[in-house]
Amino acid sequence: MPIDPRAPYDEDNIFAKILRGELPCNKVYEDDFAFAFHDIRPQAPVHVLVIPKGPYVSWDDFTAKAPESEIAGFMRSVGEVTRQLELDGPGYRLLVNMGGHGHQEVPHLHVHIFGGRQFYHMIPD
Ligand code: 5GP
Repeated sequence: MPIDPRAPYDEDNIFAKILRGELPCNKVYEDDFAFAFHDIRPQAPVHVLVIPKGPYVSWDDFTAKAPESEIAGFMRSVGEVTRQLELDGPGYRLLVNMGGHGHQEVPHLHVHIFGGRQFYHMIPD
């Protein structure tokens, strides 16, 4: 079920629990702004999720409310993760689902990194 992007931040969402270390994950990266881990149902040879450390429901929430330092830091972190995964040479795809039409399922902003194979179509489904 897609989330309601206008709902207040739910401290008990699954990614909040992963961030607090209350649920396990296959972690790939962490810094002051971001935390990255492998998606539990990978849709590509590399499928990593990058989440901001702050409590932001969605891309909309983040870009409207986060201070510029957090936005800049998070963007840089996503780039850092792609380089750590050695995807900067072959290339990769980034995806953010937002709200109902975007079919966002977890109410904590996450950027999907897809890599490890050639992609063709603009929209994965
Ligand atoms: P969305 O549709 O919200 O953009 O994507 C949510 C993603 O989170 C999906 O790709 C899904 O496989 C992933 N996911 C959901 N629950 C978990 C979990 O508990 N652990 C991990 N690592 N990924 C999850």
